[in-house]
Amino acid sequence: MLTGGEGALTVTVRMRVSPEPEDEQAVLDLMRRYRDALNYSIRAVIASKALSLTKAHKLLYKELRERYGLPARVALDCYREAIAIAKSWLKNPRKGNKPTVKSLRMWLTHELGYRVKGDHVELAGSYRLRVIGWDRRYDDFPSREARLVFRDGEFTLYITKQVPRPAKYAPKGVLAVDINERQVVVGNSSVEVRIETPVERALRYRRLAERLQGKYSSSRYRAWRRRSGVRRRVRHFHRKARDIIEDWARRTAHIIVSLAKQSQLAVAREDLTGLVESLRELPKDHRTALIALGYRRLGFWLDWQAEKGGVPLFVVDPADTSSTCPRCGAELVEVGYRRLRCPNCGLEADRDTIAVLNIEGRALSKMGGTLASPTAPQVTDVSPNRWGNL
Ligand SMILES: [Zn+2]
Repeated sequence: MLTGGEGALTVTVRMRVSPEPEDEQAVLDLMRRYRDALNYSIRAVIASKALSLTKAHKLLYKELRERYGLPARVALDCYREAIAIAKSWLKNPRKGNKPTVKSLRMWLTHELGYRVKGDHVELAGSYRLRVIGWDRRYDDFPSREARLVFRDGEFTLYITKQVPRPAKYAPKGVLAVDINERQVVVGNSSVEVRIETPVERALRYRRLAERLQGKYSSSRYRAWRRRSGVRRRVRHFHRKARDIIEDWARRTAHIIVSLAKQSQLAVAREDLTGLVESLRELPKDHRTALIALGYRRLGFWLDWQAEKGGVPLFVVDPADTSSTCPRCGAELVEVGYRRLRCPNCGLEADRDTIAVLNIEGRALSKMGGTLASPTAPQVTDVSPNRWGNL
């Protein structure tokens, strides 16, 4: 999911589809041939530097049609995808082995590679899939290319659409977001909400994966055992951990952006680049890896949801947000576990509350004259109770 050019956003609509039972084998078969053809094409494109469509066509089209039995249109999409993968691999300065695609997925050009007709999707080569359900909010916007993915026994069609970028309102104040490893603290001078992070829950799956890996890497177990089943379960646990973080980041961003929109506030978050970098330098353990992943994904989803919802968003400098007094700017002293006090003006608060207030203040000064009303920073129309039980 990417933000598009000037006036448009590119959104991805997830459509659950299912081949008719008698076609399922044929569709899976096509996807397997596509994957093999794609891996072959990636190597060929890299080896002969055939990075243009014309060159790749000459090099591959006939073979993809004859040897891999791809329908004409699917063959075009196959080498087009191969070029894209080859290009990003060639651009990567730390490139390792040549890229190999293992999952079952297919690029499809709109109208030529796939077509949605009522409650069916037709693929080039006259394969039919039944539509089970999708997000209808973007129905009025034209479809672009799509990816058909087969994972965990289910088929999903990801359709990209161009949607006009919504206009942003003039904010009446700021909703600041502070992230630490256990909580996301959201608020401003009038309200505060705390949302737990799922790091501990995700960590359990990482540990399960590690335990399995440790147990079966011993030489007592035969090679076949180390490979197949165990490996699959280890991978499953790792993926489960990542999914938990991703799911949480997306839902949390949605809650925060909706709250901001309800009260016509701007969202303010810290610039997390430095934080993520510094976590990367710590000894690699599962916890720091998951925390860094959580920060990155929450930042990503906040930016995206704000853009999509027309909610103004500010990224502020994170330096000293939890050690400076938000009221007078003096350096705070610690007076207890995560509690800070200002020796100058007497303000005393939890370090996360301090951070939220500082982020709010920085965003307000960034906004300068753009507040809808000059006295707006106090959000008097929202009571904390209404926001409870997140
Ligand atoms: Zn102070």
